[in-house]
Amino acid sequence: MERPVRVRFAPSPTGPLHIGGVRTALYNYLFARQNGGTMILRIEDTDSTRFVPGAEDYINEALQWLGIGIDEGVREGGNYGPYKQSERRDIYRRYVKQLLDAGRAYIAFDTPEELDAKRQQVPNFQYDASTRMSMRNSLTMSAEEVQSLIDAGTKHVVRFKIEPDHDVVVDDLIRGRVTINSTVLDDKVLYKSADDLPTYHLANIVDDHLMEVSHVIRGEEWLPSAPLHVLLYQALGWEDTMPQFAHLPLLLKPDGKGKLSKRDGDRLGFPVFPLEWHDPKSGDVSSGYREAGYLPQAVVNFLALLGWNPGDDREMFTLDQLVKEFSFEHCSKKGAKFDYEKGKWFNHEYLMNMPDDELATVFRPVLAQHVNPDDFDADYIARAVGLVKSRMNFVRELWDQAGFFFVAPTAYAEKDIRKRWKPGTDELMRQLIEVLQGLDDFSSKHSEDVVLGWIKEHEYHMGNVMNAFRLTVVGECRGPHMFDITELLGKQETIARIERGINNITPIDA
Ligand code: GLU
Repeated sequence: MERPVRVRFAPSPTGPLHIGGVRTALYNYLFARQNGGTMILRIEDTDSTRFVPGAEDYINEALQWLGIGIDEGVREGGNYGPYKQSERRDIYRRYVKQLLDAGRAYIAFDTPEELDAKRQQVPNFQYDASTRMSMRNSLTMSAEEVQSLIDAGTKHVVRFKIEPDHDVVVDDLIRGRVTINSTVLDDKVLYKSADDLPTYHLANIVDDHLMEVSHVIRGEEWLPSAPLHVLLYQALGWEDTMPQFAHLPLLLKPDGKGKLSKRDGDRLGFPVFPLEWHDPKSGDVSSGYREAGYLPQAVVNFLALLGWNPGDDREMFTLDQLVKEFSFEHCSKKGAKFDYEKGKWFNHEYLMNMPDDELATVFRPVLAQHVNPDDFDADYIARAVGLVKSRMNFVRELWDQAGFFFVAPTAYAEKDIRKRWKPGTDELMRQLIEVLQGLDDFSSKHSEDVVLGWIKEHEYHMGNVMNAFRLTVVGECRGPHMFDITELLGKQETIARIERGINNITPIDA
């Protein structure tokens, strides 16, 4: 049966969205768009103890920044709402009752203390077919007893009654068929009277069904829950509309083994969150890709390739191209190493491919921290960033590379003076000024020809002359091609800088 593609990203607002969650959202989005389907954002907030204020807004803002569009959700609305689980209590109650009435679930009164005591007594205790008849629940108590406890307001839970020794089959679009025996599963809690809310498992299944979700695309950490979810679909009589599963590979540490964690980011100096996060409780600030200077397109491209590949060695993909190319066949089963350097590389590539005038516009706020950008022609700023952009990964680094185009050096690098400014260098620079004065055409190519011709003619040392020249103009011996610099600075400014160099630099004895 062909069903319309409906996918959901279903985060729990328990803190900032982790970069792995962003990838899950991205893959859902790509699959939805590719199939003309619907992308749902569902807020899974049934665990009130883990609720963190601000987390939901953070999720929305992060997805928006990355261009991951949502079709149905709390903000967007839609015909399947509410899209926040804490607002769907009435709905869940109906299905708890259905499972109880059908004998597929039962009420349990065991207190946390009683459960702890059991765990102490019985090694590897699991609440399941082998133990449930020795516990305090509606299977072992009379109906009157159960009712009177409930009437008295006794806290209880509803547990799923799992029949042992059945094969449970999960067909996964990435992993293929996974079969497990139901005996290993425990009678999961589906509902808690304490807050009159279902647990993740029941809410998730009920909503996927009612929201007509066709594909469940989520991280591998949820694979162990999938057999239970399959059983719940069956118990509720919904097998025919069970979604197809696709469990995405884990994001792994850049070094060593195991899952990528916030600590890895702290340890190795990279963000694991899309946006900066200010923890409302502790006040701690965690860095984000946006604030670290990443372009959203670069983050999307980087994440897309962590767990998926196009089947060849292409690496640069826009969101639209990803929508066309994405496929589960090319998702890997193996975890994807989080190669942070690669993330930087993507950012570099995207910045390099940006037209210079656009790059100048993003650079403007950084420039404004040092000079008044209005003192410079838009074209001048664009040409300056164009000359240095190959040397940076982040826009903020442009100042370090291009600052000398906006502020003449007032200090000169000592190590370069030591190496390049000898007695007599000032005289050479005076001659150079003469040569430059004589130029009518100050273009890069022409001034290069003339200056190099002059050096050759006098048999001067090319490296010494050019580096001393650079030292006066840039303040140190680095930067783009010298004559591209002087063309942009212009004759007057170039000569003024050489003069200032002559007056201010003195040789340092070794
Ligand atoms: N609420 C779960 C989470 O936080 C959803 C898992 C799922 O997609 O089923 O990731």
